[in-house]
Amino acid sequence: MTQQTTQHKIDYIIVGQGICGTLLSYFLKREEKNILVVDEPKPYSASKVASGVINPITGRRLVRSWMIEDVMPFAANVYKQLEAELKTSFITQNNILDFHPTAQMQIAFDERLPQESAYLKEVQDNLQWQQFFNYEFGIGEINPCWLININQLLEKWRVLLQQENELFETKTAVDELINKYPTAIIIFCDGVDGINNSYFSKLPYAKNKGEALIVSIPGLPRNNIYKSGISIVPWKDDLWWVGSSYEWNFDDELPTESFRIKMENQLNQFLKIPFQIVDHIASVRPSNIERRPFVGIHPSHSNIGILNGMGTKGCSLAPYFANQLAQYLVHQKPIDPLADVCRFRKILSS
Ligand SMILES: Cc1cc2nc3c(=O)[nH]c(=O)nc-3n(C[C@H](O)[C@H](O)[C@H](O)COP(=O)(O)OP(=O)(O)OC[C@H]3O[C@@H](n4cnc5c(N)ncnc54)[C@H](O)[C@@H]3O)c2cc1C
Repeated sequence: MTQQTTQHKIDYIIVGQGICGTLLSYFLKREEKNILVVDEPKPYSASKVASGVINPITGRRLVRSWMIEDVMPFAANVYKQLEAELKTSFITQNNILDFHPTAQMQIAFDERLPQESAYLKEVQDNLQWQQFFNYEFGIGEINPCWLININQLLEKWRVLLQQENELFETKTAVDELINKYPTAIIIFCDGVDGINNSYFSKLPYAKNKGEALIVSIPGLPRNNIYKSGISIVPWKDDLWWVGSSYEWNFDDELPTESFRIKMENQLNQFLKIPFQIVDHIASVRPSNIERRPFVGIHPSHSNIGILNGMGTKGCSLAPYFANQLAQYLVHQKPIDPLADVCRFRKILSS
């Protein structure tokens, strides 16, 4: 650990620098708090493997994602502020072109259009995509959607933390931290590792594995996200992210051959232009049974807190709830009761 971090009085220690730890450290620094981020650099954390899409519409029934009217505009603004601060670019508006895989899906989309006109649109010129894709049942558009290059954000933020002596790269043992910084508040943003965190292991986590192929598809226009059962999403270095899976039962966190074969077959069916697989990645989402995040201070330990449980929606939920947590810590403003970890007071205190 550097000289400076040991000499400063640390107000908050943030364990983990995924999307949650990054955003929470950003908001606490904006409040001029002294922070220390402790992160074990893992090449395949959920944030590093995520495609980075903020999609306001969820699932086959095409319903609005939870709190999307609040969280999406808030997230887009925060990411743009961070872009300006870090002098880099990592957020773009990339709408989803939804190539209906079946006639039923086309009917379902058309039926939802009038009810959900804020986010669902018709694509007028259906034929222009025929040079790239095989499709029979028309195209809908989900608009606006945002795409976050999370790896770029995480890397740039990490450099800033390093420059300001606010990063400690290691896997941390909690008791050691408490002994070393007895007056600091420790907030766990430890993603799926939180399942083994003795303070919060009783929370209703449900690990969910996801895989993706990284693919080169020369010539495919990069201003959209393409969806037809699979999602094809612009990725770094002119590559594409293709996925994903949602596995509740799995042996390990590694990429599987069965996923690669399945995706390759689907790409062969959907794409008319050549592609080449260059990588295959996998990670585990910190999901939970309630599908609501865990935000706040432990009901029995006033120096221990959490920002976790973002499931499939880290990009949209993390900015909003990191800000709520920072406002709670610094100004005692309330946390949304649906997200406040104190809703689990009974099991956490037992
Ligand atoms: C395939 C896939 C696709 C996805 N696509 C999207 C998407 O398009 N849009 C979206 O919004 N979400 C998506 N997600 C979900 C998103 O990735 C998660 O919601 C989010 O990344 C969770 O972030 P986190 O900061 O909680 O955890 P993580 O990203 O896992 O970060 C936790 C960090 O804490 C560190 N850590 C843990 N324990 C310790 C310790 N004891 N000491 C030190 N460091 C520690 C880890 O090393 C890690 O760096 C996807 C996920 C997957 C797997």
